[in-house]
Amino acid sequence: MEKIKMTTPLVEMDGDEMTRILWKMIKEELLLPFIDLKTEYYDLGLEHRNETNDQVTVDSAEATKKYGVAVKCATITPNAARMTEYNLKEMWKSPNGTIRAMLDGTVFRTPIIVKGIEPCVKNWVKPITLARHAYGDVYKNAEIKIPGAGKAELVFTAEDGTETRELIHNFKGAGIIQGMHNTVDSISSFARACLNYAVDTKQDIWFATKDTISKKYDHTFKDIFQEIYDKEYKEKFEALGIEYFYTLIDDAVARVMKAKGGFIWACKNYDGDVMSDMVSSAFGSLAMMTSVLVSPTGVYEYEAAHGTVQRHYYKHLKGEETSTNSVATIFAWTGALRKRGELDGNDSLMAFADRLEKATIDTIEAGEMTKDLALITSLENVKVLNSEQFIQAIRSRLEA
Ligand code: NAP
Ligand code: MG
Repeated sequence: MEKIKMTTPLVEMDGDEMTRILWKMIKEELLLPFIDLKTEYYDLGLEHRNETNDQVTVDSAEATKKYGVAVKCATITPNAARMTEYNLKEMWKSPNGTIRAMLDGTVFRTPIIVKGIEPCVKNWVKPITLARHAYGDVYKNAEIKIPGAGKAELVFTAEDGTETRELIHNFKGAGIIQGMHNTVDSISSFARACLNYAVDTKQDIWFATKDTISKKYDHTFKDIFQEIYDKEYKEKFEALGIEYFYTLIDDAVARVMKAKGGFIWACKNYDGDVMSDMVSSAFGSLAMMTSVLVSPTGVYEYEAAHGTVQRHYYKHLKGEETSTNSVATIFAWTGALRKRGELDGNDSLMAFADRLEKATIDTIEAGEMTKDLALITSLENVKVLNSEQFIQAIRSRLEA
């Protein structure tokens, strides 16, 4: 069989632990036999990040800006324990954080739906994609514990020295205060990334804040979204027959529970933090969740939403058998290959991405799956496969 040709390389970001093992297996079993795979390889494994003083992460993000599409393996975010385990020179920052900041990107998480792994919410028949604004609000706050009576004010000092003041509260006794901020630039980038992604995936997009209570702060989010939508996206949305829908956050939560899915839910930072964990656990499993970072200029980085599956890796190192789910990592590759195909007008590459996804889903629906899914499936007579066997089962369907 002739291998599928590629014209532009994908930016390949290798990673750590169990997902690094899966990465190699996926390439050898599911990609290299079928595609003349062109990648520009960056080793974001912790050892190599440490050797390069994390320059490799910066280089990989630059390459992503240059080529437009990247695929990333899960990576360790160092903590104190990793400092000793890997003998690190510094506690390097999270690669995802570095890449997100360099691309000014928004993360979209989408569950992979298969028969036999039913969401807790029965009416969710299509995926709900969650987009979280990743800057500011309570995550960049300033807080004070007020010991006793006194006046708390918000003060803004302009560059020319002019002050604007707003009374927060006249305290009669002890209390607490908090100051938050966001920027028009960051909110605008978030709005554009969300609206672009809606156009790209031809899905409706919902956005919600508490603008009735927060008449300046939250209302600014609402206004920026509406203004950018009206000026830059309205026509495209109407041509595609998709909708931008704004409502209050409590109304959005109530509607999401009753909805069928098949839309993007854009959330402010805190709402996204809370709701993404609710939505992903209700859909079944972190191992069945994909994630894509999209920049406002239309650069894409695909990955799995889960981490490096450390516990399985330590078993693997001891020579014990693992049954680690590779679905989200496979879908990171198919997402990136499809996008590359789309940008290059490479239909066979796009068709291959579809075939690989179908082979993966068919494998699970035929009752062949890893242990994490076997524990939650409604299918009967399930065959539990180890990490290699699952990938081989997909390969035989792909070859058929
Ligand atoms: P994790 O790797 O997501 O795994 C947590 C647990 O979830 C696992 O122990 C496993 O449960 C289950 N799980 C996750 N993915 C699975 C899969 N593909 N197949 C089967 N089970 C799966 O999170 P972690 O162990 O807390 O973090 C490990 C490392 O990953 C950390 O160093 C962290 O910094 C990093 N991390 C990276 C990213 C990223 O690069 N995007 C994201 C999150 C975390 P059982 O053990 O019960 O089987
Ligand atoms: Mg959270």
